Amino acid sequence: MSKYDIVVIGGGLVGCATAYYLARSKANVLIIEKGELNRQASGQNAGSLHFQLEHRLVKFWDTLKGTISEMIPISIMAQDLWSTLEQELQADMEVVQHGGLMLAETEEDVDKLKRKHRLEKELGLDSQLLTGEDARSIAPYLGANVLAAAYCPAEGHANPRVVTLEYAKKARESGVEIRSNTLVMSLNRTGGEWKIRLQTGEMVRADNIVIATGAWAAETAQLAGLHLPMYPVPLMMNVTEPVEQVVGHLIQHVGKKLTFKQVRDGNILIGGGWPSRFTTKHGLIDLSKAPIIDPSIARTNLKVACSVVPSIQRLRLLRTWPGVAGVSGDQLPVLGEFPERPGMYVAGGGSAFTLGPAYARLITELILTNRTSLPIASFSPSRFSHLNLFMQ
Ligand SMILES: Cc1cc2nc3c(=O)[nH]c(=O)nc-3n(C[C@H](O)[C@H](O)[C@H](O)COP(=O)(O)OP(=O)(O)OC[C@H]3O[C@@H](n4cnc5c(N)ncnc54)[C@H](O)[C@@H]3O)c2cc1C
Repeated sequence: MSKYDIVVIGGGLVGCATAYYLARSKANVLIIEKGELNRQASGQNAGSLHFQLEHRLVKFWDTLKGTISEMIPISIMAQDLWSTLEQELQADMEVVQHGGLMLAETEEDVDKLKRKHRLEKELGLDSQLLTGEDARSIAPYLGANVLAAAYCPAEGHANPRVVTLEYAKKARESGVEIRSNTLVMSLNRTGGEWKIRLQTGEMVRADNIVIATGAWAAETAQLAGLHLPMYPVPLMMNVTEPVEQVVGHLIQHVGKKLTFKQVRDGNILIGGGWPSRFTTKHGLIDLSKAPIIDPSIARTNLKVACSVVPSIQRLRLLRTWPGVAGVSGDQLPVLGEFPERPGMYVAGGGSAFTLGPAYARLITELILTNRTSLPIASFSPSRFSHLNLFMQ
């Protein structure tokens, strides 16, 4: 039976980045991926690097205000990691950090923007509040209806089709073993170590395991007899034909679901959290199948984009695609060790493309040194321990 210091379950960005950082510290690591690397959310996403608090968090400000501030240091850490990632992995991953604008179109949105900006500024995130006119002076493509914008110079985007694979490549070079097309079937801790049964019937042993299975994290926790409220959410993206440079920033909206950016090849990617539709089996969500695009939802998403950048109305839509992300019960990241299962860690949730490198660094620190360079107690799976009171 092979034995590892750490087995990482899941070959998306979080799993591959975690394995890379662990191996850089000489740990003996195995990644187990049930399909192929980077085929789920990490390879399907919009590639936005958004460090400002997102619309989905601002919308639930009153519920989240106790913990929302703890997201900001993680965003700053992620911002710094992305700024040197191509150099570190020696790879072109189309990382650009040439600034992002979060827009407001109503007085109510402007108030939300001000409140958000105040908190971010207090906690050291570099951003500026701009009037609509100031925003148009740096982004002339914005429509007249934009009343204000929060500008974060470090925001931008990267190519999701390559980032995870570059992490995996460097992880391999650092000694990480990767088993693709291998489903984890059970997780048991006996004699102070984890025994991981694979679909092949094989058993591997590990001192620690990391659940990095994104939208499947609840299923994976169940393999160890625990509940974890991580919910799969079906999303969609749109991409236009390639055109000359139109949009020079990452665009987000404080009051609406919207992100868009123009990538290196000239295509404009438009999304922002608009839903696709799960297929079902016997009335239940069937996660083994890709969700279905609803054309009317795609149209609404595009209308919202055209309302703030009217010049893109002339562009043709090239294609749309769905993807599944994992969102925790309180929308915050889930990062830490399960108090009920020593040596079992989880990392994921939310915008884990932007924040994935930071999650990976923090969980690596926790596993290797039992401490982290930023406070992550608010994100510990222990906040869901009430759900596990009745589990063995
Ligand atoms: C359409 C869309 C747009 C998005 N846009 C953005 C964005 O612009 N910016 C941003 O920051 N975030 C964005 N996100 C969210 C982001 O993509 C995800 O948060 C992130 O990629 C999650 O990474 P992960 O490694 O945790 O999960 P995944 O990439 O989903 O990887 C999990 C892996 O675990 C594997 N797995 C599951 N169960 C098992 C098992 N039992 N055994 C072995 N392997 C298993 C899966 O096959 C999968 O490969 C978007 C998501 C979607 C779907």
